[in-house]
Amino acid sequence: MHNDPKLLGLYCHIPFCKSKCAYCDFCSVAGSGNHARSVYVDALCREMSEMGKKAKGYTVDSVFIGGGTPTLLGEALFEKLISRMYEEFFVAESAEFTVEANPATVTKKLAEALVRCGVNRVSLGLQSVHANELKLLGRIHDLADFEKSYEILRKAGIDNINVDVMFGIPDQTAESFLNTLKHVVSLRPEHISAYGLQIEPGTPFFARKDELPLPTEDEEYSMYIYACEFLEQNGYGHYEISNFALPGRECRHNKKYWNGDPYIGLGCAAHSFFCGERFGRCEDISAYVSAVKHKALDSTVDSREILTLADFESEYVMLRMRLSEGVNKKAYKSLFGFDFDERYRDRLKGYVDAGFVVDNAESCHFTTDGMYVSNSVLSSILDL
Ligand code: SF4
Repeated sequence: MHNDPKLLGLYCHIPFCKSKCAYCDFCSVAGSGNHARSVYVDALCREMSEMGKKAKGYTVDSVFIGGGTPTLLGEALFEKLISRMYEEFFVAESAEFTVEANPATVTKKLAEALVRCGVNRVSLGLQSVHANELKLLGRIHDLADFEKSYEILRKAGIDNINVDVMFGIPDQTAESFLNTLKHVVSLRPEHISAYGLQIEPGTPFFARKDELPLPTEDEEYSMYIYACEFLEQNGYGHYEISNFALPGRECRHNKKYWNGDPYIGLGCAAHSFFCGERFGRCEDISAYVSAVKHKALDSTVDSREILTLADFESEYVMLRMRLSEGVNKKAYKSLFGFDFDERYRDRLKGYVDAGFVVDNAESCHFTTDGMYVSNSVLSSILDL
């Protein structure tokens, strides 16, 4: 009898950056030296041996090294980390293997090392092609760095590139955003992520939020709708609220999050969904390193949740609705044993009438307008 392999996504968090961007609330520190990075990689290797044992029997079909700025590790540390990963986990030859890169940190030597390690997808954080917008965001690269990195990666053999762009940046106009989109599309990356700037507590932007020359809510909405239309017209399918891909190039790893598939996150601040349990590790790098060194990995877990069926149901709807395909009603019924319509039709009616949601016999999904306001719609219909 043939059994399908149990598939797993693997995420690895690298919490180092050259300097902090003004809007960033990700777990990353600036200014660490090679010693701190090396100690952290050693801790990650130890965590890999521990988690690798738990993942015996699973085939890893997607790897995502994110941050922070993973490319700051440099060739030697990166190769050390990845060779350990191959020792501890069974990674399929056909796995999607993504690394996030800041355009100021990509060199020919590094790109060649990534390819040697099996990396086949790189996600480049461009955000904007305009020097004034990049400067306001506190990005350490300019357009020339991005173009050079893009060319280096292509020459090294990376045939799957994502480019992140941002809308809602201070001083950004519809025209300047359009220029960014046009420039990116002219390079034909396989994937484009277009995110709205969020002003997060604890960031320099948050402290100055009242004086930042931010686009109005209406302007930001128009930028989003424009991006969706422009990217679709240029062959990029809008498959998730903020993500667009050429056919067949949707990000396999991120789709695992939205599909509720299992993944293990390694490193500080990393989250996992494994064996029906969600857990996240602490953000404190030294606490993480010291706990791993003293064989107390469990003490780095600062959130743990075993999902009840009701939690799983709400989460399933919330994550599925992020995708343009939305909730498939047949699949929903076979998972939960009751009709999607029975539970949600009345709650959704106002949003259907307003043109935010399409609710038909087979599926329920957001329209493009609905995707823009998806958070508020979902929080009003779900029992969270
Ligand atoms: S490069 Fe990315 S992770 Fe690092 S500070 Fe900037 S936004 Fe944050």
